[in-house]
Amino acid sequence: MKISSIDAFQIFDSRGFPTVEARVELDDGTEGRGLVPSGASTGQFEAHELRDGDPKRFLGKSVLTAIEHVEKEIAPLLKGLDVNDQQGIDQQMIELDGTPNKSRLGANAILGVSMAVANAAAAAHNQPLFEYLGQGKGTLLPLPEIQLIGGGAHASWRTDIQDFLLIAIGAKTYSETLEMTFNVFHTAARLLKKRNTLAGVADEGGYWPTFSRHAEILDFMVEAIEAAGYQPGVDLGISLDVAASDLFNKEQGLYKLPLDEASYTPDEFIDLQASWCSKYPIVSIEDPLVDDDWAGWQKFNQRLGGKIQLIGDDLFTTNPDRIQKGIEEGVANAVLIKLNQVGTVSETIEAIRLTQSAGWNPVVSARSGETEDAFISHLAVATNAGQLKVGSFSRSERMVKWNEVLRIQRILGDRGEFKGGILF
Ligand code: PGA
Ligand code: ZN
Repeated sequence: MKISSIDAFQIFDSRGFPTVEARVELDDGTEGRGLVPSGASTGQFEAHELRDGDPKRFLGKSVLTAIEHVEKEIAPLLKGLDVNDQQGIDQQMIELDGTPNKSRLGANAILGVSMAVANAAAAAHNQPLFEYLGQGKGTLLPLPEIQLIGGGAHASWRTDIQDFLLIAIGAKTYSETLEMTFNVFHTAARLLKKRNTLAGVADEGGYWPTFSRHAEILDFMVEAIEAAGYQPGVDLGISLDVAASDLFNKEQGLYKLPLDEASYTPDEFIDLQASWCSKYPIVSIEDPLVDDDWAGWQKFNQRLGGKIQLIGDDLFTTNPDRIQKGIEEGVANAVLIKLNQVGTVSETIEAIRLTQSAGWNPVVSARSGETEDAFISHLAVATNAGQLKVGSFSRSERMVKWNEVLRIQRILGDRGEFKGGILF
């Protein structure tokens, strides 16, 4: 099971922007591919996504240099290595890159190969990816976090808060989470159309409606859950991704919410979110504060961490060192897990294990720029992560992930487990 060749080429993601597809071939002809996703509301501590920056080509977004790095530097290094040694291969690429954030070769170059190596190894073993990555121990089907309304950087700032999501906390099976979400998702569309406030869909396929206040969106979510015949907070809960780093004005030290015509000090912003938590059936909040305010996060966690799931995305950027610091300082109780924030499969798995070792929840996540690949569905099951966040319940780059979990559910059969709405 030795690597015989590696190549890469430029494909396009769900926003139509260039991204990397890498292909690893083994000496028996088996192959595996790695398709790299891309964020828009990226955190400052993420691994570096290498783009060519030539304004005359693809708005500066082409990834031809990253591809050249795969073919000229990574391929010769990895040729002849045992494809089963994911960690050793990832480590060699990290050392070849030589920077702390993979900025020389590009995290997109490294991750494409890392994912392709995992897929090639699974294929060589004739195993589904989740069985191979989880060494047969991955049996937990994830609880989905599904976007109903998209805003922030994904919808031209129609709302300031980025994601308004549903978690089907009352569901008994993975299939039931999708049925419940389906019912609310399509009920919400009907209600929005009736009010003439539906302007399309945002980058992750959630509705892009017109609202005049954030609280109005929360009221609307409760209305949609009820209109679909469910009990808010019992059958389905609300989850927010505030993506607060995008809202913070550093000079003024204030969070700005133009939709509400309001500015908040960090303490006031915590108060606002605490008041939403007492008024609405909110079960989870991601990135409620800027990604370098560790003390603020600690305060937030002390106040609300016992009542809701508190997820760090931009705060941790799937980086084991930052997660370790967060655990020591008690700043959250969950970590968003994104492969391309850290840049290799084995570091991503390490981040998940570290999160689990603290008794925290890993939430495996897609990016706003996605591909037709369903690697993360397998990753979530392989690691028994327990939760999966993929964007909305529409558009194929999202649905491919939800559908892949349905396939895994069939493969697992009686071995499959589902914990449901036990968030912590
Ligand atoms: P991104 O957004 O992929 O644009 O960073 C997703 C998120 O913030 O969770
Ligand atoms: Zn986020």
